[in-house]
Amino acid sequence: MTRRPGVLNAYHWLIYQFGVKYWSSPLPLSCSLPGSGHWLHALPTVHLFRVSSDIYRAMLCIRLDAPVPAAEHVKACECGMTGPSLQYGYHWYSQCHKVTYNTVRHNAACGCYRDMCKKAGFHVQEGETAHWVIGAPDLRPYDGIATHPQTGERLGFDLVVADPTRHGRLPTGSQYFKRGQAAALAVHRKKCAYGRLVRTYQLRHAVDYKPIGIEVTGGLGKKAAEFFNDIVKAAQQAKTATISPSEWSWSAQSFSSFWMMWISFTVAKITALAVHHGVRRALAAHAEL
Ligand SMILES: [Zn+2]
Repeated sequence: MTRRPGVLNAYHWLIYQFGVKYWSSPLPLSCSLPGSGHWLHALPTVHLFRVSSDIYRAMLCIRLDAPVPAAEHVKACECGMTGPSLQYGYHWYSQCHKVTYNTVRHNAACGCYRDMCKKAGFHVQEGETAHWVIGAPDLRPYDGIATHPQTGERLGFDLVVADPTRHGRLPTGSQYFKRGQAAALAVHRKKCAYGRLVRTYQLRHAVDYKPIGIEVTGGLGKKAAEFFNDIVKAAQQAKTATISPSEWSWSAQSFSSFWMMWISFTVAKITALAVHHGVRRALAAHAEL
């Protein structure tokens, strides 16, 4: 293996400067999930991968589990929360009940999977337009139904973005989430809810339920990675596994690498935006006092 002293030095400098606390946090485990680091290779020659320096810096700090510079002087969140979870940004990943980008991030991540399915040749029907449950048109158990281009099988995907820093959701007796565990638990909760739904109601069509869990770092849980691979396989069989010249870059030359990068970039970017949004709102609330 080639040693990369430059990168290692920079990493150790960050640990020294900011006290990166990788030994006690679930974030590095989440950051080792498939896809979570793909955004690091994204090149700004592809317009989708452009982001301001501030947000990019926050994305890097979140990945390194270092304090986010923008949050340095924040004393209290708009909701009243204080403590180091503000400087590290954890509080705004998903926990704050007042300032949240949870819906924005969920919808953006769904958009990535939806667009990827469409590019692969699936027909995709989305939540807003569908009446999937007989007798209960308001129930939307899926974010979208993707119909396989060749087999005609309906895959009902239901996405959840899980936060491994949310210790309140830990199983009894655990001190932190293991790798991919936050996503797996969120998927389990979705499955249970879906089980209750199909025991109560009848579905209009037979649907293969696909709950998929992504973590706030951009890492794909087991089910999210499996569904991703299913789409890639379908695209390869249908010969639609291509990307347009505007999506192509040196670091993502194939259908699967482009979409993995785009999902990872989208989720990591919105987590950083959520932290910046929390900081702005906290500073504004504090200024009024
Ligand atoms: Zn808050």
